[in-house]
Amino acid sequence: MTRRELCREAEKRLAGAGIESTACEVRELLNLLPHDREPVQSDEEAFFSAVEKRISGFPLQYILGEWSFMGYDLYVGEGVLSPRDDTEVCVRGLLDELKKAGISSPAVIDLCSGSGAIAIALSKLIPDARVSAVELSDHAWDYLMRNIERNNASDITAVKGDINICCDDFEDESFDAIISNPPYVRTDEISSLQKEISFEPAMALDGGSDGLIFYRVIAEKWFPKLKRGGIMSLEIGETQAQEVSGLFKGAEDIRILKDIQGLPRAVILRK
Ligand code: GLN
Repeated sequence: MTRRELCREAEKRLAGAGIESTACEVRELLNLLPHDREPVQSDEEAFFSAVEKRISGFPLQYILGEWSFMGYDLYVGEGVLSPRDDTEVCVRGLLDELKKAGISSPAVIDLCSGSGAIAIALSKLIPDARVSAVELSDHAWDYLMRNIERNNASDITAVKGDINICCDDFEDESFDAIISNPPYVRTDEISSLQKEISFEPAMALDGGSDGLIFYRVIAEKWFPKLKRGGIMSLEIGETQAQEVSGLFKGAEDIRILKDIQGLPRAVILRK
């Protein structure tokens, strides 16, 4: 089959399986074919095996093995959460607040960094930032290392550890900014999320019985690590704005930022 025929057949199969945005998905999947020649039999087989994998619910990002966040290309795969566009809300919110506060070379820490999407975007977008990234999972750590290298972001200080414990390695008032997209899905909700998410690591999603476990750790153990006047920016689930805001008693200027769908997606505050 020619590229065009493969494209049409893949669209038909994906649409038949009820997958949305088939044209976009197929455009991405076509990247798996060689760019410099028409596909041969073995390319065609590999392509349709990817299409079938996608039909089984396996995430597109994992099939491609890479995904872009705010213009930075990142390796992704099983064992690490794929970056979502929603996460741009807490990153942009932090950039705006730092600018408003006139903080130009901030010490920033990204908690539960995963693929490193947030840390890498910040280290690129704030030229004089000193960015640290904390991650516990072995699988995610490998992706974090590879993504730091891929993006020439070796100025990021990566810390392998549990945010419950490694907080003790830092003095109080060490950071101008703390940012996190922690696991925030309620344990009993995880199995009801879309099929693609069942392939993603529960460790990156499960926020305990009320979804708030990590925010409590951040409020108790990390808020003290923020300098006075420093900024905290947290991604949240759409129903968690009030509860998360309520955990930060000593904070000023608590604001809720919405995502592109108009749903609450980040809590941002100043100490
Ligand atoms: N946004 C993810 C989802 O619900 C959740 C990410 C997280 O728990 N931090 O698909």
